[in-house]
Amino acid sequence: MARYTDARCKQCRREGTKLFLKGERCNTAKCAFEKRSYPPGEHGKEINRKPSGYAIHLREKQKVRRIYGILERQFRGYFDKASRMKGVTGENLLSLLERRLDNVVFRLGMAPSRSAARQLVGHKHFLVNDRVVNIPSYLIKPGDVIKVKDKSKENIIIKESLDKIKGRTLVSWLKYEPATMSGSLLNVPTRDTIGLPINEQLIIELYSK
Ligand code: SF4
Repeated sequence: MARYTDARCKQCRREGTKLFLKGERCNTAKCAFEKRSYPPGEHGKEINRKPSGYAIHLREKQKVRRIYGILERQFRGYFDKASRMKGVTGENLLSLLERRLDNVVFRLGMAPSRSAARQLVGHKHFLVNDRVVNIPSYLIKPGDVIKVKDKSKENIIIKESLDKIKGRTLVSWLKYEPATMSGSLLNVPTRDTIGLPINEQLIIELYSK
């Protein structure tokens, strides 16, 4: 299973924004971007030129890939699928990314970050509609139920993560049932309910060049 292996804080510094890739740590003073908000590398501090139009488009696409931890080929696959769907391509793209199993696990609060969710899914801690699914990219459909496996209910990462999000409001398209440690997708996420600072139009323009 190919995945992103770059140091996560460096990815935030490269994109010039906090991507929240490390869970709770991202909200503390330990956040590397808070301390060094310039690009990584020996000359990172000195880079002060105006980015080209292409660079702006490229950085937006890289930012989204890094948020969801996806490699280029798979991301391109999502884009192609989104462009074949009815509706607005950019919105379809984000909706597909949000419905990945690892993202849904993270959004339900069962993991502290998307990368932790990916690892937990790979280690078979979750059921989708009562069947074990260990594919992080598995696409969740409205009505699907995602549940922590009985044997995994004492998993420290899952338990601590769920404890931390107690009282927080979930995105409107997900519902969580604490009694059964399960959640469901109520409907396909719409652009206004995703709530990430992404300009998906720039990605469309980049791939249309
Ligand atoms: Fe990014 Fe800061 Fe989180 Fe590191 S700690 S991943 S720099 S937001």
